[in-house]
Amino acid sequence: MRLLEARIRLESPAIITTRRTERGFVKPSESIPGSTLRGAIVTALLREGRVSSAEEESRKPTILASPAYPLHPGGRSLPATLFMWYCEKCREAVDLTRDLKESLLTGSEPEIRLTHACGEPLRPLYGSLIATKRLERVGVRSFRATSVAISKSRGSAVKGMLFDYEAVAEGTEFWALMLAPDALEEVKEMEIFVGRGASRGFGRARVTFSPAPLQSGEGGVFIALSPLTPLGEIEWGGCRVRLKRAFGRTLRTMAGWDYVRNAPRPFVSLVQRGSVVVAEVDGECGGLLSVGLPVRLEDFLLTGVNALIPVSSYYQLLGE
Ligand SMILES: [Zn+2]
Repeated sequence: MRLLEARIRLESPAIITTRRTERGFVKPSESIPGSTLRGAIVTALLREGRVSSAEEESRKPTILASPAYPLHPGGRSLPATLFMWYCEKCREAVDLTRDLKESLLTGSEPEIRLTHACGEPLRPLYGSLIATKRLERVGVRSFRATSVAISKSRGSAVKGMLFDYEAVAEGTEFWALMLAPDALEEVKEMEIFVGRGASRGFGRARVTFSPAPLQSGEGGVFIALSPLTPLGEIEWGGCRVRLKRAFGRTLRTMAGWDYVRNAPRPFVSLVQRGSVVVAEVDGECGGLLSVGLPVRLEDFLLTGVNALIPVSSYYQLLGE
């Protein structure tokens, strides 16, 4: 297995949403969930005959991906950690992630700062995306439009079927970490479709692969690049992760839609991306840790979660 960096460039607007509403898909997402990216790549590989069975790949994944985050002119964007804040008055970010590492390892409570040196209250950056050493906030360019649903059988508009959607603009670029079998080494570039409305031309993207730029960082304290399943122990493919402490905000969310079974996935509690985790790792983990260990939930396999990178690797990806 090889750890790759995938760069995704949208060649048409993409409808990537996190929440479905009655009127259509309105809540935009400024990242591509790891499971969505994995699905898009597997679909393209199936089409090219490089993966033989969708069912086999869904049962025993050989391709795994972290969430994809936007590329900023200054480099990759990453989820801000729980220990990052911003002072509106000084227009300055405060980052205690590295300072708190030692106290997290020794088991003491992290000291949370709520006011800046200037006296102004600090606003948490946790939950947003940041880039560069200055921790600049990053978003994606999106636009809102309304579309009419077309009946596939009649080829005409369906009465009462209007969709509001928010689409991420074409030209937007993302990066992600991906684990793939060695056999896919010759695949350097491919066309994929991300998000909704592929049949209407949405979400066409070009993805290129290169070796991941990660040097192996020291363990102990990790940053979650993706949502995290709050389980004491996670095991997958000979890699075992024991979570000793996790700092973050837990959200209850639907684990998406299972396309193979055509059924909704169950609701799960996940810790929001950017959480800070103290963990013991052993076994054959390699790149598996940075794309995230999948978790079996009842009959479903949850991917695109638990992507953990050492603190030093986090800053390396940020371009320091
Ligand atoms: Zn200030």
